[in-house]
Amino acid sequence: MKKCLYCQAISRQNRAGKTKAGSQRYRCMHCGHKYTPEPKQQGYPESMRKRAMEMYVDGNNLRRIARHLKVAPQTVAYWVTDVAEALPNAPLPNEVKEAEMDEMFTFIGDKKTKSTLSLW
Ligand SMILES: [Zn+2]
Repeated sequence: MKKCLYCQAISRQNRAGKTKAGSQRYRCMHCGHKYTPEPKQQGYPESMRKRAMEMYVDGNNLRRIARHLKVAPQTVAYWVTDVAEALPNAPLPNEVKEAEMDEMFTFIGDKKTKSTLSLW
């Protein structure tokens, strides 16, 4: 459910094209504002991603980095995961593992496919 960032209405939020980065934009039919609820991470400058990695390597956790750079912790997690996956021996940060595990448990529900989970 989309919510207008301006008047907080949750009804009558119509799609209104996309941003240059490809994120879906919405238009609130109550107040007429257009907004982008989930801007794509590509919208951030490379320098910010680099700074996030430097902070991560320095031992800062994702939340601290996110707060410092004023981005969502999940965004920092994406960046760190991107880089970590490019380095064969780099461990994923615990926060990323936990977030993905939560998602996985929600997704598989009662099935508990051990073969999938043992990848970690
Ligand atoms: Zn509105």
